[in-house]
Amino acid sequence: MKSNKAVVLIVEDDAPIAHVLSTILTANEYSVLKASTGAMARSMISSYHPDVILLDLGLPDISGLEVLQWLRRDYGTPVLIVSARADEQEKVQALDMGADDYITKPFGTSELLARIRTALRHRAKQESGEDLPKKSYTVGGLTIDFERRQIILNGEQVHVTQTEYKIIELIARRPGRVLTYDYIIRRIWGDYAADNNRILRVNMAHIRRKLEENPAEPKYIMTEIGVGYRMAEEAGN
Ligand code: CA
Repeated sequence: MKSNKAVVLIVEDDAPIAHVLSTILTANEYSVLKASTGAMARSMISSYHPDVILLDLGLPDISGLEVLQWLRRDYGTPVLIVSARADEQEKVQALDMGADDYITKPFGTSELLARIRTALRHRAKQESGEDLPKKSYTVGGLTIDFERRQIILNGEQVHVTQTEYKIIELIARRPGRVLTYDYIIRRIWGDYAADNNRILRVNMAHIRRKLEENPAEPKYIMTEIGVGYRMAEEAGN
């Protein structure tokens, strides 16, 4: 069974949801594998080495978080959490444990496909060694020049503080992917500040006032409520 199709493993105990996912993916040229328990997921990952894993957190045997923990010991496979829960805590935990992203049920087809494409692209870049630090990031009228540490908006330089720059660069280096509040705070201020979401919110408010035409409807740095921030994807990427 040799083909160029990317193989997606769906780990989901809810049969109707697994069916919907599998139908969408098959129709979009993916090969699909399905596992309805954590144990099955582990054995399929070992046997088939899927390219992407869609992981439900609430499984009948072991939790999705345990599957993720096990996976991350040996595999770099991109993982998208498929979350039914309002329970953001678990989603955030999964992201901090090495999941790449998440989608919340009910999700749209285009959202699902976009997340999978992003995950596969990052994987391909890592494998080809193309994942080297980029020199700049550009979306719409915004360019972040990582070498000069400059931010250009609609042709004009934007003045930001050191801390604001560090936050923007951190998020812009992983466009299209969500970074959790906790992750950002630890990277910018260190572990001691981990419980202090406020410091990040205040900085982000300043950043948005400088970058966004309408800070209430950001185009460049999006809020994932209760989870973190996501930088807009570069065009043609
Ligand atoms: Ca479930």
